[in-house]
Amino acid sequence: MNGPDERGYYGEFGGRFVPEVLVEPLRELEAAVTGAFADDGFWSEYKRLLRDYVGRPSPLFEAKNLARRSRGARIVLKREDCNHTGAHKILNTVGQGLLARRMGKRRIIAETGAGQHGVATATVGALLGMPVEVYMGAEDVERQSLNVYLMELLGARVRVVESGSRTLKDATNEAFRDWAATACETFYVIGSVVGAHPYPMLVRRFASTIGEEARVQCRQRFGRSPDHVVACVGGGSNAMGIFAGFIDDAQVRLWGVEAGGHGLERLGLHAASIGAGTVGVLHGARTLVLQDADGQIAPTHSISAGLDYPGVGPEHAHLARTGRARYVMITDDEARVSFERLARLEGIVPALESAHAVAFAERLAGTLPADAIVLVNLSGRGDKDAVRFALARAATAATA
Ligand SMILES: *Cc1c(COP(=O)(O)O)cnc(C)c1O
Repeated sequence: MNGPDERGYYGEFGGRFVPEVLVEPLRELEAAVTGAFADDGFWSEYKRLLRDYVGRPSPLFEAKNLARRSRGARIVLKREDCNHTGAHKILNTVGQGLLARRMGKRRIIAETGAGQHGVATATVGALLGMPVEVYMGAEDVERQSLNVYLMELLGARVRVVESGSRTLKDATNEAFRDWAATACETFYVIGSVVGAHPYPMLVRRFASTIGEEARVQCRQRFGRSPDHVVACVGGGSNAMGIFAGFIDDAQVRLWGVEAGGHGLERLGLHAASIGAGTVGVLHGARTLVLQDADGQIAPTHSISAGLDYPGVGPEHAHLARTGRARYVMITDDEARVSFERLARLEGIVPALESAHAVAFAERLAGTLPADAIVLVNLSGRGDKDAVRFALARAATAATA
């Protein structure tokens, strides 16, 4: 199965659960997407920017030192950490930026949690000369001063949201409110394969560059597809992107790795929406959601900001339901160990998000024969996390 039905459903998940005022803007977006995706000119512009601006194709690197330690299968990294701005998110924001321009929109809005999607959107705003406003919860603004600075440096305006829990879900509500009032002139850039139809489908299409490249690279290097593909799952865009290259290949096992935080014992300690969620509606789509008995969205926790999200893209919920992909979890502590190990053994500092995928790949590789191939999506680089750990260490030293 490749793509939702005409109403935007992947099996029982997806759809369009939005207020009346947003139905028309979503239809307009859907029509524009249909036109753009059928237009070779749109794709040649997109591909040109991926090559010259983002720096693609990203390399495929065999992590032999890591594999030797795991005593099992070969481990191969798809190096999304090498992208301009340091993660896969730019693939999506470049694509949506071009859509915004094609639709004649004059202004871009986005919501951001930790600020990574905000920075990727601000980057594209600067590139295309479009004003960007990013909604961000006040709590997150305090915690993520580096990304707030970067967004402003790139010319974006950061709109601080003081309502509710002052985090991502409140920022999302404000962004929806803005869009409902200004849809004629505004393009809303969503940061993962989440939200109302057609967002999950169009974000997947932009991210699928990862899987398409990896498939060709594996063919050239190994003469075949990998046996296993592993990616971390926040909203699910880097995972859907790499899965897209192999999903029609029934022999390739697909693994999504969720943030286990401090463990799945109770709500609030983790962000494993598939592992521990129930069916609900979040950000305009029916999907698996971490919620309490009253249907209130639960607080989440992960050491990695990018995985700290109480829902998951509807296509992942469907892949979990059908069994085409399997979803597992890695705790904060396990991710931290793999973060340090990849740095030490391969000279690559991964994003903490990506370290979740690496941790599971190490565990999996240890159970497999030496000629098996495990492909891992290294979704981003870890400078942002290294800065945080360095500041925490300095603070500890200062109080000691
Ligand atoms: C944002 C982010 C993620 C999580 O987002 P997905 O949509 O699940 O891919 C994972 N890795 C990195 C490096 C990120 O910045």
